[in-house]
Amino acid sequence: MRQRAARDQQRLDSGAVTSPKDLENLQHEITSLAKRQSDLEDVVLEVMERRESAQERAGELTGRVESVEGKVADATSRRDAAQREIDDEAATVTKEREVTAAAVPADLLALYEKLRVQQGGVGAARLYQRRCEGCRQELAITELNEVRAAAPDTVVRCENCRRILVRTPESGL
Ligand SMILES: [Zn+2]
Repeated sequence: MRQRAARDQQRLDSGAVTSPKDLENLQHEITSLAKRQSDLEDVVLEVMERRESAQERAGELTGRVESVEGKVADATSRRDAAQREIDDEAATVTKEREVTAAAVPADLLALYEKLRVQQGGVGAARLYQRRCEGCRQELAITELNEVRAAAPDTVVRCENCRRILVRTPESGL
């Protein structure tokens, strides 16, 4: 288009075109070519601006993706660490339970296991300030007196939930 405009301009400047009608047509074509060129330049400029803004947005989104990926990686590693801690603790507790269970008389252990299954995983509960910590019920005075009178190695149980009561210095006896 530029070449064509230059060629038209050359013809105009050369004086070869002498008819007023041709001169007018030529002048008109040059003007119209200049206008089209300017329009096209505007379009190119707009496209470049849009490309620039799209690139900016793409960069921004990439940054956000990286940030989210970083957070996921961080959460994953913290979860894995927590899982390892839980596994370690479970192994330790299992070992401790084995040692403790080995020292408990067989019939008492059997009773405990039976109660544990019946009572949602808790077969024995601490008696704390006259309250069974298994069912949260406070023991009646008569019951408390019976527990109080029982020998230290007697297995005492909660009247309400039937769990084995574990007596401690805070039992309120
Ligand atoms: Zn109870």
